[in-house]
Amino acid sequence: MAYNITLIPGDGIGPEVIGAARKVIDASGVDISWEIVEAGAISNKNLGTPLPNYVINSIKKNKIALKGPVTTPIGEGFKSVNVTLRQNLNLFANIRPIKSYEGIESIHKNVDFVVVRENTEDLYTGIEHMVGEDAAESIKIITKDASERICRFAFELARREGRKKVTLVHKANIMKLSDGLFLRCGKEIAKEYTDIEFEDIIVDAMSMKLVQNPQNYDVIVAPNLYGDILSDLSAGLVGGLGLAPGANIGEDIAVFESVHGSAPDIAGKNIANPTSAILSGVMMLKYIGEERVAKKIENALAETLKDKGTIDLGGNLGTEEFAQEVIKNL
Ligand code: NAD
Repeated sequence: MAYNITLIPGDGIGPEVIGAARKVIDASGVDISWEIVEAGAISNKNLGTPLPNYVINSIKKNKIALKGPVTTPIGEGFKSVNVTLRQNLNLFANIRPIKSYEGIESIHKNVDFVVVRENTEDLYTGIEHMVGEDAAESIKIITKDASERICRFAFELARREGRKKVTLVHKANIMKLSDGLFLRCGKEIAKEYTDIEFEDIIVDAMSMKLVQNPQNYDVIVAPNLYGDILSDLSAGLVGGLGLAPGANIGEDIAVFESVHGSAPDIAGKNIANPTSAILSGVMMLKYIGEERVAKKIENALAETLKDKGTIDLGGNLGTEEFAQEVIKNL
């Protein structure tokens, strides 16, 4: 059966890493009809909007998208395409698996956990205003519905993947109302999952513990901002952003994308690591039920990483050459 999937190359290194991921997926034998749509800086320049309606419509129609990173202007300019997409399509869960691969030089070995990040609210709602000229306010929103939904998602993921523990991250000692609500919701949901261990921890302490003993964690659930920061930190523990895949999941729509951004410093040079884009594709294949093909690609990738890598991993392969090595190992 052919799957119709939306492909958003994005900008910066996006077209390079997504192009590589697409080649690997196409070579794996799965029959995908890609609908390619542009978003971000390119469509902003050509069409005056970074997120044209046809992008949203394509994802709504196909229900699945593989997306490259999109540059967001800092402190000015258009609102983040990523945040807008997540809000418009109600992609409430951001899933970021963190896993060690053999052959990768990294601070830690034998790490295997998943960060489940709430994806629609917290400080990312973009509700900000100036108070006079010398102060600014950003509003942090935490709701019971979204908190319960993401915590339930984390426990369900733990059960599905045979994981044993859920760790909830918060700062409820200071933000007693907002983070306090998130924590209370987590504690309530935990009561329904007596087969899974539950603990909670304050985000600053968690940052230290993750750096010292990441092997202690299995599923981490967090509000948007802490989840965003901790997942980049975690990627750094196992070899860097070039290795970290991700998925934005809603009720019936899912958008798969790397944790990393558009990396303008290395764009257009054929040196970006496509591993995270390929692994995002692996997550996508698992999601659509192509478990066997997903495993085949992950194994080929793991085999390739054992003795070959891109520049960020201390190797000398270009983006394209790395993808060709993975294809050889399929
Ligand atoms: P970044 O993730 O793009 O880059 C951080 C560092 O990691 C850079 O040194 C970069 O060269 C390196 N890096 C990232 N991906 C790599 C890869 N695949 N292979 C090798 N090295 C890699 O973060 P940034 O520089 O803070 O952000 C750049 C732009 O990307 C910003 O406009 C930001 O808003 C945007 N961004 C987009 C997304 C997304 O579209 N989902 C996510 C994060 C950041």
